Amino acid sequence: MEFEAFFKDALDGLHQEGRYRVFADLERQAGKFPKAIRYTENGPQEVTVWCSNDYLGMGQHPKVIAAMKEAIDSCGAGAGGTRNISGTNHYHVLLERELADLHGKEAALLFNSGYMSNWTTLSTLCSKIPGMIVFSDAGNHASMIEGIRHAKCERVIFKHNDLADLEARLAAADPSALKMIAFESVYSMDGDIAPIKEICDLADKYGAMTYLDEVHAVGLYGPRGGGIAERDGQMHRLTVIEGTLGKSFGVMGGYITGSTALCDFVRSFASGFIFTTSLPPALAAGALASIQHLKVSQMERARHQERVRKLRAALDTQGIPHLNNPSHIVPVMVKDAAKCKWLSDLLLDNYGIYVQPINYPTVPKKTERLRITPAPYHSDGDIEHLVSSLHALWARCALARAVA
Ligand SMILES: *Cc1c(COP(=O)(O)O)cnc(C)c1O
Repeated sequence: MEFEAFFKDALDGLHQEGRYRVFADLERQAGKFPKAIRYTENGPQEVTVWCSNDYLGMGQHPKVIAAMKEAIDSCGAGAGGTRNISGTNHYHVLLERELADLHGKEAALLFNSGYMSNWTTLSTLCSKIPGMIVFSDAGNHASMIEGIRHAKCERVIFKHNDLADLEARLAAADPSALKMIAFESVYSMDGDIAPIKEICDLADKYGAMTYLDEVHAVGLYGPRGGGIAERDGQMHRLTVIEGTLGKSFGVMGGYITGSTALCDFVRSFASGFIFTTSLPPALAAGALASIQHLKVSQMERARHQERVRKLRAALDTQGIPHLNNPSHIVPVMVKDAAKCKWLSDLLLDNYGIYVQPINYPTVPKKTERLRITPAPYHSDGDIEHLVSSLHALWARCALARAVA
C-alpha cells in the first residue's frame, strides 16, 4: 500500500468537504487576556480571542501563576512516574481532596485530561459491571461515546434532553439489569442545560446510577463553582460528577468525584488511570489555587454572566441570529459551512477577531456556527468591535437577519 497517497487522499476529502481544520498559531499573553499574538505568514498580528474555553481567564490569574511557579521551584518540572510508582505528589492528594469537597463527594480521582476521565471511567465501569445497560444522551461528548463504545456493553441512546424518551427506554429495559444514565449539564455547542433533577428522579425510579459531565459548568455555576448540579441543589443525587481543570479552571487535567469505593475501584482497575505518568505537580498546584479562588470569589462568575447578557443584547440590536440558551455559550448561527469559514477568516484577517468556525462533524450539517464565548475580561469596546464587524460582514455574506 502507498501510505503517503492514502493519507493525502483522505486529507483531500476533508478539504473538498470544507472541513479541513486549520489551527490559529497563537501566543497567549498573560495579563492581557483575551488578547493574543497570532503568527501569520505576514508576521505577528494582535487578535482578540472570542472562542476560548478559559471562560473566566483563570489561566492568567495571578494566584494561579504564582502557585504554579512556586510548585515548579519547590518540586521541579514533572511528576516522575505513574501515580502508583513514585508519581503521586502531595499536590495531587490536596487537589483530589479539594475536588471531592467541591462536589460534596467522599472522594475524587485525577486524570490527565477531561477526555481521559470520561473515556477511562466509562469504559471501566461499563465493562466491569456485569450486564450494565448505559442510557446515553444523543448529544454526549466524543470522550463519553468512545468510552462507552470501548466497554462493549449494551447501550441505548436517548433523544437529547428528552425525559419522555429516556423514561420510555428505561421502562422497556430488563428491570433486573444494572443501569447507568450518562449525560452532561451544559452542552458545549448549543449551550442548553440538562434537567438534572428530573433525570435523577428517573434514575431513582428505575434504579439507575448517574454519570454527569460538568465540564462546561464547573467554576461557572453554583455558589462555589460546583456546576449546574450545585446550583440546582442536586449534587448529592449524582453517582459520578466528572469535570475538567482545563476550561474555566484555566489549567489542564480531568477528574471524577464519587463515593470512596467507586473512586477506589476506578483507581484500581482503570488502565487509562494506572498506566500513565501523572500530571506535573505545578499543574495540580495551579488547579488547586484556581478552584480555591473560585470557591469563594463571585466576581468572575457575576462579570462573566453580565458580559454574556451584554453581547447577546448587542447582537440583537443588529439582528445577528444567535441561539437563545440559558448558558454562557453564544452560538451565532451561520448554517452554511463555506460561509462560516469565510466569515471566520475575514474576522481574523481584517478585523483581528478570532472565532473558530464550528462545522460538521462537531455539529450537524446546516447548523454551522461561530461559537462565541465572552469572558469577564472582554471590554465594552471588544463587544462593540465584534458586533459591528459581524454586522458589516453579515450583509456581504448574504445571510438572513433575525427578526427582532
Ligand atoms: C472539552 C470536553 C471534555 C474533555 O475535557 P478536556 O479536559 O479538554 O480533555 C469532556 N467533555 C466535554 C463535554 C467537553 O466539552
